[in-house]
Amino acid sequence: PEARTAAHEIGRLLRPDLRGRSPYGAPQLDVPVRLNTNENSYPVPEVIVRAVMAALEDDIRSLNRYPDREFTDLRAVLTSYLGQQSGVRVRPEQVWAGNGSNEVLSHLVQAFGGHGRTALGFTPSYSMHPIITATLGTTWADGMRESGTFELTAEAAAEQARAHDPSIVFLCSPNNPTGTALPFEVIGAVLDAAPNAVVVVDEAYAEFARPGTRSALTLLEGNPRLVVTRTMSKAFAFAGGRLGYLVADPALVDALRLVRLPYHLSTPTQTIARVALQHADLLLATVEAIKAERDRIVDGLAGMGLAPVASDSNFVLFGGLADAHATWQALLEAGVLVRDVGIPHHLRVTAGTPAETSAFLEAMGRLAPEHR
Ligand code: PMP
Repeated sequence: PEARTAAHEIGRLLRPDLRGRSPYGAPQLDVPVRLNTNENSYPVPEVIVRAVMAALEDDIRSLNRYPDREFTDLRAVLTSYLGQQSGVRVRPEQVWAGNGSNEVLSHLVQAFGGHGRTALGFTPSYSMHPIITATLGTTWADGMRESGTFELTAEAAAEQARAHDPSIVFLCSPNNPTGTALPFEVIGAVLDAAPNAVVVVDEAYAEFARPGTRSALTLLEGNPRLVVTRTMSKAFAFAGGRLGYLVADPALVDALRLVRLPYHLSTPTQTIARVALQHADLLLATVEAIKAERDRIVDGLAGMGLAPVASDSNFVLFGGLADAHATWQALLEAGVLVRDVGIPHHLRVTAGTPAETSAFLEAMGRLAPEHR
C-alpha cells in the first residue's frame, strides 16, 4: 500500500502529458540468438580493442578535467569518414555529435520544436521520433505511408507536409522498421512543401543500402534547413559506445549549442569513437557479410511463402503471418528473439552472422503452420 501511495503521489506531480505513457523498451532478454534491435552481431576486432585501451590510459589520468566541449578531434575524423563513405565533402563545423543519434535527434527537437510547434513523421517509422517529439513538449503529427506496401511517394509526402505546416519533418531512409530507402525525390519535395521546417533525414542504416541509393548528404549544399543524422551503432558495431552524429549547415549546428548540456560527450566516449573511426575500414568489413545475410533472410522467407519487404538495412520486415505475436512467442521459445513492431501480421528480424540467420530460418521452418 505504501508503494501504491508513492506511485499515486508521483503520478499527481508528473507532467500531465506524460501520465499513462510507457517508456521505450525493446525487451533485453538473455536468449541464444538476439535479432531484435538491429545491432551488429560482430564483436569489436582485437586490434581496435588494444588501440582503444592504449588511448584511454591518458584520458583516464586527465579525468579531473572536463572533456573538450567541441569534440574537435572526433569531428575531424567524422568529417573525413563522411567524405570517404559518401563522396560528399563535409567541413568540421557542419558536424555535430551526441550520445547516440537519439541524443542528436533530441537536440534538434529541443532547438526547433517546442510548445505550439509540430513535428511530422510518416508511420510506420522509427518509434523514437514521436517519443522524443512528445516528451519535449512538441506536437506529433502522424503522417501516413501507403498501406500494405509502406511506400511514401514525393506527392503524398508533400501533400501531408503542406497540410501540417510543421516545424520539423522526420524522414527515415533506409526506413526502420520497413527497411527500404526512400525515393530520393521525397526529400526535395518535403523541403519545398514545408518552408518553415527543419527536414531531418535519419540515415542510421545508410551503410547497408543497396547500390544506387543516394544519401541526403548530396543535397546539403544550398539547403540550410536540411539535416542528415547517422550513427555508429549499426554498421560500425558500436551500439554500446553511444555515438551518433549529424551533418547540416554550420548555422544550424551552431544553434544546437544552445540546448546541449555542457560537456555532453565524455572524454572516454570521444576517444573510443575517434579511435574506432580511425579503423573504419576494419569495423565496416562486416557490412558486406551482413548484407549477404539480409538477402539470405529475404530469399528464405519468400521461399516459405511469407512477404519480406525490400531491405536497404541490416534487418528485414516480413508480413504474411496469421498472428505475429504468436509467431514472436514461438520463436522466442525456440531461442530466437525478433521484434514485434506492432504492425499486424508482420515481424522484424535483424541480419547478423551466418549462424544466426540459419538458426532463425530453421526455427521459422519448424514452426507449426498456424505460426507462419
Ligand atoms: N534512428 C534509427 C532509424 C534507428 O533505428 C536507431 C536505433 N534503433 C536510431 C536512430 C538510434 O540509434 P543510436 O541512438 O544508437 O544512434
